[in-house]
Amino acid sequence: MPERVILVSPRGFCAGVVRAIGSVERALAMFGPPVYVRRAIVHNAHVAARLTAAGAVFVDELDQVPRGGVVVFGAHGVAASVREQSRAQELRVVDATCPLVAKVHREVRGYRRRGYDVVLVGHAGHDEVVGILGQAIGVQLAEHVSDVAGLRLDGADRVACVTQTTLRSQEVAPIVDALRRRFPTLNEPTAKDICYATRNRQAAVEWLARRVDVLLVVGDPTSSNSRRLHEAASQAGCRAYLIGSAAELEDSWLADATVVGVSAGASSPDDLVSELTQRLCRDGALLQEEVFMEERVAFRPARVVANPTGPATLGDGNRGVHGAVGRRRRALVATHPRTRA
Ligand code: SF4
Repeated sequence: MPERVILVSPRGFCAGVVRAIGSVERALAMFGPPVYVRRAIVHNAHVAARLTAAGAVFVDELDQVPRGGVVVFGAHGVAASVREQSRAQELRVVDATCPLVAKVHREVRGYRRRGYDVVLVGHAGHDEVVGILGQAIGVQLAEHVSDVAGLRLDGADRVACVTQTTLRSQEVAPIVDALRRRFPTLNEPTAKDICYATRNRQAAVEWLARRVDVLLVVGDPTSSNSRRLHEAASQAGCRAYLIGSAAELEDSWLADATVVGVSAGASSPDDLVSELTQRLCRDGALLQEEVFMEERVAFRPARVVANPTGPATLGDGNRGVHGAVGRRRRALVATHPRTRA
């Protein structure tokens, strides 16, 4: 076991995930079970298990939801065809699409309206990517640099690029470079397509990786931003492991490690992080929390977007954003006394 454990922040739940989970809880409180959730509300099996126990029913497609039922769309967003289907089935929809994903949706639709070909940089099959591709006809995916040569686009002068929100800028840059070489007038993605939570957690992990022997990222293997955090730590030269919960910890990972760092993906609940730090500190290791950067972002609650049985609302809109990302600050905010198990 290590001598010191450093818990870095920002880590764990982002504003979009808080809003999505809160949307399911509020829908359960307002309408009662069952509340249907299309696909993963967020990519974390522990979160899904808790919501299932409370009465949420996870479905792959809306065909599995009875007419007039209550359904929540998760933080990753949905294709336009899914919204159309929800109207056809007269579903009461709580749209918990993260406002930062919805921003990319609007960018795509705006480009297509103005006659641009749109290329999305992202990972094939991820729910967010499926939703973005489904915003308009003719949006194409580039997952790797090698995909750029095979894109079939109408003209070279009106091409725009957007990205999945949970990537690393290091993986996006070579693909955008290849696009720019093929389409010199490319409308490039804005830096903010990769969301604030992804960028902040990656920067914190890269900073932490230089100070520890081993870095543990709490996250689900299906979570894109958790996997990118793990990659960021590994590429910063640190022995890094992606871990779902404390139960998965292997003592061999900690061999010769004096200082262990801990972070968590944007869909990982903090109680899983606490379980892990308690296990790491059970032999008396010192637990420190380091704030790499303050983060103050919150989104307004989602609202019901269709309700055939009468007016009802879960909040006051999808687009509102409260607060701002705080300035970068590094400070030791808590040092817990050594404890012996
Ligand atoms: S990771 Fe970013 S885009 Fe995804 S839900 Fe969180 S804030 Fe929104």
